Amino acid sequence: MIDIDGSVGEGGGQILRTALALSMCTGQAFTLTRIRAGRSKPGLLRQHLTCVQAAVAVSGAEVQGAEMHAQQLRFVPGAVRAGSYTFHVGTAGSCTLVLQTVWPALLQAEGRSCLKLGGGTHNPMAPPFHFLARSYAPLMRRLGAHVELTLHRLGFYPAGGGDIDVTIWPCHDALRPFNLIERGPWVESYAECLAPAVPRTVAQRELAHVESALGWHTHQLRTVAVRQNEGPGNALLATLVYDHVTEVFTQFGAKGLSAEHVARELVREVRSYQRSQAVLGPHLADQWALPLALAVWKSQRAAAYTCTDLTPHATTNFAVIERFLPVRFTTTSCDTGWYVELAPC
Ligand code: AMP
Repeated sequence: MIDIDGSVGEGGGQILRTALALSMCTGQAFTLTRIRAGRSKPGLLRQHLTCVQAAVAVSGAEVQGAEMHAQQLRFVPGAVRAGSYTFHVGTAGSCTLVLQTVWPALLQAEGRSCLKLGGGTHNPMAPPFHFLARSYAPLMRRLGAHVELTLHRLGFYPAGGGDIDVTIWPCHDALRPFNLIERGPWVESYAECLAPAVPRTVAQRELAHVESALGWHTHQLRTVAVRQNEGPGNALLATLVYDHVTEVFTQFGAKGLSAEHVARELVREVRSYQRSQAVLGPHLADQWALPLALAVWKSQRAAAYTCTDLTPHATTNFAVIERFLPVRFTTTSCDTGWYVELAPC
């Protein structure tokens, strides 16, 4: 039984999700105490509870403490089963985080799995659908883990209602770790505004600001067509495509924030990434650690990546991963950011 203190480091939901994912992948049980103690509303919220329920569904786990606001959980995984699963967060909570909880385990299942996920698809503090589809999924495929993601409906806070289909193919323990040290040649950059049920001028002002601040051309600006009854919501995205990586940065509009403010924050993120030569931006840097660690463990081959920042999310995730897998993270600061090495031990 692995005992984890959920208040250490970043103290958020990622500790829970990483523990669930790696518990299912390795068959090791865990107890988690002081769940999300670092957050203003500690314990399991609807979104975290859905992650636990999803993990129970795919692995037949025995669980104690799977209740709203619980601050303690005991999880004993069973065998992971491929299949068709439907997981609805039930609020606007992020359904992409539910996906990331079960994704690694389903790679190890006997067959293909088809997931229907409902909830928020574009939430602050969670990977937006476009980030998963453009940044994370291509890296997973390069690792040997084939996946297809389809967005049927956008889901924003507070209405939710997002709808995603995901097909995950098993990789039969054939994950191949690889190094991500250089971005490779630049291919293209573009900005998009998702703004269902929001005045059209919001998208126009956000994109106009990005255009002038980054010196981008009109053909690099896109307003995305939305479906009926989506939203209200507003996400402004910048996608930067290089040969070896695609990064997606996202900012969210909210009541009381001007369109220009949202755009300025996005420009700040893009510039910060462009100033560095490191491959992974701050969010990919923490999320890439888990699948890469699985590949390093399975193959017994080391791998490395460079990243622009090492956030508390990243360092906390490294520590939780090291509790479940016989791997070691070594981090070295370099002039373009950080160099992260991951080796079996
Ligand atoms: P937690 O705060 O512990 O629930 O973890 C949130 C997760 O969402 C972390 O893996 C973050 O890297 C990820 N995340 C937050 N914002 C973004 C974003 N804009 N793009 C991609 N990932 C994000």
